[in-house]
Amino acid sequence: MSTIARNLQAVHERIAAIARRAQRDPHTIRLLAVSKTFGPDAIIEAAQAGQTAFGENYLQEALDKMAALKLACPDILFEWHFIGPIQSNKTRPIAEHFDWVHSVEREKIAQRLSEQRPAHLPPLNICLQVNISGEASKSGVAPQDALTLARAVAAMPNLRLRGLMAIPEPAEESDAQRLPFRQLRLLFEQLRAQGLDLDTLSMGMSADMDAAIAEGATIVRVGTAIFGHRDYAK
Ligand SMILES: *Cc1c(COP(=O)(O)O)cnc(C)c1O
Repeated sequence: MSTIARNLQAVHERIAAIARRAQRDPHTIRLLAVSKTFGPDAIIEAAQAGQTAFGENYLQEALDKMAALKLACPDILFEWHFIGPIQSNKTRPIAEHFDWVHSVEREKIAQRLSEQRPAHLPPLNICLQVNISGEASKSGVAPQDALTLARAVAAMPNLRLRGLMAIPEPAEESDAQRLPFRQLRLLFEQLRAQGLDLDTLSMGMSADMDAAIAEGATIVRVGTAIFGHRDYAK
């Protein structure tokens, strides 16, 4: 078994164990493999082990990999999630090549994604990125503005609003990790109580996925625990 296949198995076992402890059905938690900085070979290895949903942060890098993978393994049906910051002049290729976007934080970006989504594709699945820790430097919509943005996005014809995403400040202790995830879940429940049809809480990475699952994550975005440490110098 390859290292990536072994790591994937370990992550799935970890998800199942935490889910059971939290009295949740493990099948309600999806694993998104974050493949940024890793090449097509690593993605193929993961795909051969059954993983077909991948998250990417950098548009050009992602498009290059998608093209390489289409040639190398045309029969694998990948699901691509864009999870990085979005520049407004880069929305068209995102709308054309991805199935999900987790990092929508402004109405203007959502508007462009909806207008640019090709008619032959299903609606683009959207999560709103929320600045749950409230720092001025952080990306994401402020929690108090999330309802307005959610209503606007839910009304856009070629988007399907699925839920919320957050990247909290790193914290060591489990209680400190759980607090922002709980705040995101409460906001998610408030939006649902307002009639928004949401089913996705995208939260938790390699270092804090246990806390995120305990607080209700439905997608965990995991890179390092599957592919190893990233080398940005490459
Ligand atoms: C890189 C990244 C991840 C994965 O982080 P790991 O710590 O490697 O698991 C998840 N979400 C986002 C938005 C990222 O940029």
